[in-house]
Amino acid sequence: MPNATVPKQSAGLRQQEDLTLLHEVSVATAGVSRLEMCIQCGTCGGSCPSASDMDHTPRMIFAMLRAGMRNEVLQSNTPWMCVSCYHCVVRCPQNVHIADVMYTLKGMAIKAKQYKDSTAPDFSQSFVDMVESFGRSFELGLATRHYLSHYPLRLPGMAGMGLGMLTKKRMNLTPSRIKGMDQLTAILEKAKTLELTE
Ligand code: SF4
Ligand code: SF4
Repeated sequence: MPNATVPKQSAGLRQQEDLTLLHEVSVATAGVSRLEMCIQCGTCGGSCPSASDMDHTPRMIFAMLRAGMRNEVLQSNTPWMCVSCYHCVVRCPQNVHIADVMYTLKGMAIKAKQYKDSTAPDFSQSFVDMVESFGRSFELGLATRHYLSHYPLRLPGMAGMGLGMLTKKRMNLTPSRIKGMDQLTAILEKAKTLELTE
């Protein structure tokens, strides 16, 4: 749904530049984001399969970051609509790490509890819970938990597809832990510690 507070056409033009937020997001992004190098060409939005579902294109989000529009960015559905296909990253003339920035914005929105719709953040948390428990995703459990929480009435309609995936061995009936789970747990614990000290 369009964000009522920030008309698309005016995104980034409404306020004076304030690079504090842009730098904050850039620093928080894994590796080198190159966010500061964005030239507002719009190639990312034009390449994005999810752009029509986003309330702001990636280009607009980057303009809004440059304008210091923290609340509008963190309340935007754009990062949650990103499916991490990396099409924009491949085509960006400035090699901006767009998908990685989207991950950063999701994390910031969760921390600030600014997301408008809890569906995608809940799905992300369910996925993380699965990885922490089994070291991998358990699709049947993930889908069942998500649909029970958010779309219980749609669950019966998913039964046929689920059965097909089970019979074709595209999905397991029960979860299984990866080998070396204790090592993964140690890595995740270390990552959480580092995150707390940031
Ligand atoms: S394609 Fe790259 S340079 Fe162009 S608007 Fe998107 S992020 Fe900016
Ligand atoms: S990585 Fe995300 S923002 Fe980039 S094209 Fe794919 S869905 Fe769109």
